[in-house]
Amino acid sequence: MSAGTTGVVGVVGGGQLARMLHQAAISLAIRVVVLDPDPGCAAAAAGAERFDGTWTSADDLVAFANSGVDVVTFDHELADPDDLVRLEAASPVPVRPAPATKVLAQDKLVARTALEGRGFGIPAFAAVHDVAQVQAFAAEHGWPVVLKTSRGGYDGRGVWIVRDAREAAEVLAAGDGFMVEELVDIREELAVMVARRPGGSLRSWPVFRTTQVEGICTEVILAAGSPLTDRARALAERLAEHVELTGVMAVEFFVDAGGELLVNELACRPHNSGHVTMDSCITDQFEQHLRAVLDLPLGATEPTVDVAVMVNVLGGAAPWSAEDFADAVATDRTSLHLYGKGHRPGRKLGHVNAVGDSVEETLGRARKVAAVLGGSD
Ligand code: ADP
Repeated sequence: MSAGTTGVVGVVGGGQLARMLHQAAISLAIRVVVLDPDPGCAAAAAGAERFDGTWTSADDLVAFANSGVDVVTFDHELADPDDLVRLEAASPVPVRPAPATKVLAQDKLVARTALEGRGFGIPAFAAVHDVAQVQAFAAEHGWPVVLKTSRGGYDGRGVWIVRDAREAAEVLAAGDGFMVEELVDIREELAVMVARRPGGSLRSWPVFRTTQVEGICTEVILAAGSPLTDRARALAERLAEHVELTGVMAVEFFVDAGGELLVNELACRPHNSGHVTMDSCITDQFEQHLRAVLDLPLGATEPTVDVAVMVNVLGGAAPWSAEDFADAVATDRTSLHLYGKGHRPGRKLGHVNAVGDSVEETLGRARKVAAVLGGSD
């Protein structure tokens, strides 16, 4: 550790999550170094140090771990789980979360299997290789069913609702590594963020209500008063213990028509649903992740406001103009977090956090700012 530095965190990937980890690291005098082949990646563009290499190479991962960082953690789920196991064996530097935990966020079938029969509600599921297996599952659970690739899906890519055997055959023909799930009648989607240190101490944040449009998370509401808060938090904390989490994790839940909580996905890293913590909780998910992976005491997670929301800024048909940007920053009680990424229609370019007194007004204000930057207002 060099003079004046309190720790060096190596982050596999230099995207927006690494950028915001770097932002949080500055006030604690922690250094963030990212493994990324792109000199212009979002984290390096914001001043994080960069180690030139790629997460698709096991050798680069090992060289990165041995480059002087105190711990290796992640911006994304893209490294091959087998390479991470090799990395853990080849380097004395801790990998947090450990590969055996990380794989639960990388492989949906492994995650479902790890939670099955353990008292966590999950949708009925099965691994499938052919249409006959999908038909057998549907005979028990009814059509439509949901087909998913167990690895590599994100933002709704890799998820198909199929109504019959013909549609199932079309999806199966286009790839491999599928699983099938019952189609849950979703009343709402919730997320709980939880942080855990290597020794086991943990803290969670209040529940967030999340909105997905075509599989992409678009809005998050910090719903401190939700009647499901206590149950969802307790489940997320028990899950963090069960999977021996180190760092922060997002647990995404479906609330079904009967009001039951079903675990959908795990993300073992800071997560889009947790961005709302940046301007509304004593410790946000990025600082907490740094604390957890460096095995430092965790910070308080209480909200400091009554209402907080997050709306993603997705690229519109054209980049925003100087006037749009001035309009966006003119809005009170609203914070802009831009990732410094080049414009592309539909690309996540940043997010807007807003705080206020009523959900309706606060959400309206945040949506307006996101729309100005997304070119649709
Ligand atoms: P991703 O990896 O793309 O986030 P998810 O498994 O979270 O994939 O699925 C994306 C979205 O698809 C979910 O937010 C939900 O709206 C819908 N979905 C996924 N699984 C089911 C299911 N079993 N029943 C109903 N809807 C589902």
